[in-house]
Amino acid sequence: MVILGRQGSGKGTQSLRIAEHYGCVHLSTGDVLRAAVAEGTELGRQAESIMNSGGLVGDDVMIPLVQERIGKDDIMAKGVLLDGFPRTADQANGLESMLESLGQELTVAINLDVAVEEVTQRMMARGREDDTEEAIARRLGLYEAETAPLLDWFAERGLLATVDGLGEESDVFGRLQAVIDQRLA
Ligand code: AMP
Repeated sequence: MVILGRQGSGKGTQSLRIAEHYGCVHLSTGDVLRAAVAEGTELGRQAESIMNSGGLVGDDVMIPLVQERIGKDDIMAKGVLLDGFPRTADQANGLESMLESLGQELTVAINLDVAVEEVTQRMMARGREDDTEEAIARRLGLYEAETAPLLDWFAERGLLATVDGLGEESDVFGRLQAVIDQRLA
C-alpha cells in the first residue's frame, strides 16, 4: 500500500494505525532520513539541510534507499505501507519496476485529503524543528508540483482511493479501513 497526502494531513499517525491493524511493515522515508540525521550517517549528512529547508532529497538517493529495503524478508512476508514515497514521477516509476522485479503488486494508493489551509494551520501548531514558515510553504509547493500529479498516475492504474482526512483521528481511521478492506476483499 501507498499513502499520499500533504505534510500535516495526519499521514504519519494514520500510517501507524494502518500498519498495526493490518500487520504490515510501516516504511516512512521521512523517519528513515530523520534516523540517519540523528545517527550522523553519510545519508543523514546529505539529507539534513535539504530536509530543514523543506526541499526533496534526490531521487538518486531515495530510490535505492527504498529498493534496498523493500525486498527484505519481513516486507515480503507481511506487506508494506509506504509513507512518504513515492513523491516524484521518477520515484513512482522506480517503485513500479521494483515491484515488478519482486513479482508484487500494489493493493491501493490512498490519498489522505486535507486542504492546504488546514494543513498549514496544523503544521504551524506542531512546531517541529523543520517546520519554519518558509519550509512549510516550500514543502507544500513541492507537494503540488511534484507529488500531486502522482494522484493521476495512480488513478490511471486503477489504484487510487481518496479519503477525507478531516475530523477525529478514529473517524478518519474508520474511513481508511473501509477503503482498504474493500480493496483487500
Ligand atoms: P516526511 O516525514 O515524509 O514529511 O519527510 C520529511 C522530509 O524528508 C521531507 O520534507 C523531505 O525533505 C524528505 N523526504 C522524505 N521522503 C522523501 C522522498 N520520498 N523523496 C524526497 N525527499 C523525501
